Amino acid sequence: MEIRALNLIKEVNRKLVERYGVPERQDELPDPVDMLIATILSQNTNDNNSYKAYKNLTSKFPRYEEIVKVKKSVLEKTISTAGLTRQKATAIMNFVKTIYEEEGEITLKQITLMKEGDAIEYLTKFKGVGVKTASCVLLFSLGRNVCPVDTHVHRIVNRLGIVKASTPDKTFYLLNEGFPPRIAHQFHTNLIKLGRELCKPQKPACLQCPLDKLCVYKEKNYEVKAKTNRREFMLLDNVHNKGGRGK
Ligand code: SF4
Repeated sequence: MEIRALNLIKEVNRKLVERYGVPERQDELPDPVDMLIATILSQNTNDNNSYKAYKNLTSKFPRYEEIVKVKKSVLEKTISTAGLTRQKATAIMNFVKTIYEEEGEITLKQITLMKEGDAIEYLTKFKGVGVKTASCVLLFSLGRNVCPVDTHVHRIVNRLGIVKASTPDKTFYLLNEGFPPRIAHQFHTNLIKLGRELCKPQKPACLQCPLDKLCVYKEKNYEVKAKTNRREFMLLDNVHNKGGRGK
């Protein structure tokens, strides 16, 4: 990554920390299997609905091995609050069955010593697991300095001119080429907060934005004033080790 982009990331991060603080992390990072499943559930829905589905799933199936034997319709019903239930149930079912066949248990301990690129390649081989889900496992469970790119992060880092890329996955690979050390979690989390609060897809509230002076977006909007409704609940910082292995 160019020095200019690296410096911009650090400056953006500094301003976001001034506004939102350093996001808290759990003392004990969650198991990668829990994180993978929670991230699948979080796709295209809000964190409250996916959290309900995650809690429902882990209380109904305290051990993920139990899912291997159930009908997909039962799984779909269990995770219904997350939406896109057929697609998500298929992805979860495929993941647990494949891992169970290969490892004899539902575990991702095999990725803990892998390099980031290898771990992402391994995880994205499971149907329904994309680069964003895999990178969330690396950041939130393994504590790696990797910045996942969802639609908020993709939109904002492109508006800021940190990268120029047409899809979140392309943005991910450009952004993570030599990402500055130690700040991936705060950068990722605070960008999502900014995306929810101010830098929305339509009519961003640039007047209130702490990044205005750094941002090169051509369609800035100074007319809209956002309601400061900060939706602080972040699912992936609230995933606990409830599934699998009898925890
Ligand atoms: S100045 Fe506007 S477009 Fe740029 S990051 Fe802030 S809200 Fe988004």
